[in-house]
Amino acid sequence: ITSKVTKPADGGQMKGIRNIILVSSGKGGVGKSTVASNLAVSLAANGAKTGLIDADIYGPSVPTMFDLVGAKPSARETEEGKTLILPIEKYGIKLLSLGFFADPDQPVPWRGPMASNAVKQLFNDADWGELDYLIVDLPPGTGDIHITITQSFPIAGAVIVTTPQQVALADTRKGLAMFRMAGINIPVLGVVENMAYFTPAELPENKYYIFGKDGGKALAASFEVPFLGEIPIVQSITEGGDQGSPVALDKNNPLSDVFWDLAGKVA
Ligand code: ADP
Repeated sequence: ITSKVTKPADGGQMKGIRNIILVSSGKGGVGKSTVASNLAVSLAANGAKTGLIDADIYGPSVPTMFDLVGAKPSARETEEGKTLILPIEKYGIKLLSLGFFADPDQPVPWRGPMASNAVKQLFNDADWGELDYLIVDLPPGTGDIHITITQSFPIAGAVIVTTPQQVALADTRKGLAMFRMAGINIPVLGVVENMAYFTPAELPENKYYIFGKDGGKALAASFEVPFLGEIPIVQSITEGGDQGSPVALDKNNPLSDVFWDLAGKVA
């Protein structure tokens, strides 16, 4: 495992974290949390010490995707009297989600600065210990939380998730361009094309490109960033997410290879 950190860590609780990797998308619903969760699972299964922060403040998915709805992290006091949040461990991953601190059925009516401060606390005030990878599931789009995270922490790189439709690609282009803006300048590790095609169980040889073909690949080429692969539309991905058991955990599911391969390219 090599360190790709571009800025020095700022000490404090972050000093044991080697690589912070952002998972980002232009739109919601394209599979950003699915990729973040399965990437974390694959890295951990490969023996890397892995953490996952769910910074998607308005739609946190990690509690559901890890079967932790209603879970509440505990805390401990340091010798200096500082209170540290203890990430919840599941499937060998240290997890924190803004969803652990909010009522799952209530909206979070926070203005930008409040949301940004809450996210910063997940980084600075948690007991992360030693981590090879801290994966961050960002909110969709380009907003306050992106600016806060990219400017406050030493980020190794960003993985961009898109689906192949033009409406998704248009927003993904903006999201990708944000990481290249002066003052942000974060390496883009590549583009993942999710929901790339559908294969019905009864016609396993047929691939239906229902959202269009190769949109993510073309986007990666136009920005000269790596294309990290395509993920088909598969029922077990949805079920794994809804049941709190990401597909990458199941080595018998061929989809787990897709996410293991992705982890190999990102690590
Ligand atoms: P985002 O984080 O971009 O909002 P999610 O990862 O929450 O998106 O995915 C939205 C929904 O689509 C979830 O129910 C998820 O399980 C499902 N999903 C994501 N990718 C796939 C896929 N490749 N095949 C089937 N379902 C998927």
